Amino acid sequence: MRTGLYPGTFDPLTLGHIDIIRRACTMVDRLYIGVAINADKGPLFSLEERVAMVEDNCASIGQDTGVEIITHPFENLLIQCAEDVGASMIIRGLRAVSDFEYEFQMVGMNRAMNSSIETVFLMADAEYQSIASKLVKEIKRLGGDITTFVSADVAAALEQKLG
Ligand code: ADP
Repeated sequence: MRTGLYPGTFDPLTLGHIDIIRRACTMVDRLYIGVAINADKGPLFSLEERVAMVEDNCASIGQDTGVEIITHPFENLLIQCAEDVGASMIIRGLRAVSDFEYEFQMVGMNRAMNSSIETVFLMADAEYQSIASKLVKEIKRLGGDITTFVSADVAAALEQKLG
């Protein structure tokens, strides 16, 4: 039984995240989606709203792939969270070079704390690679169309908050 942990803030969940989740499901039997509470990052959506987005959008992926997908809010250290859920791998999405430096440091430090948990990097499909939650919010705030970046329910939630 392979268990993975895909952590993030998901503020909000985008089609980029969903693409990574689908890919992660080809590698594990059980996937925890770690939703970081991250109160100091000042998320637009509450933890409950972010968890609901993940649950609503991942139910069908779980059914399609047969992978058990479990949403798991967490506030502690990522490596601690991985240990708590029994994950043997942490899954991260990698976009252009901008993500690399931070992720490189994270792997080094996480490995120093627990060398038996591997970090696996996945790239989204080309059409989703440039999507970032932060930019989606900025575009929406400025009145742009974000419907090609997020699912319909997330677009509706953004409309309610920022429309
Ligand atoms: P964090 O606060 O950890 O950066 P995010 O919710 O922004 O959380 O992202 C969670 C993970 O998903 C990160 O590994 C991030 O690099 C990855 N990710 C986000 N958007 C994309 C995308 N469009 N393509 C590939 N990976 C992505």
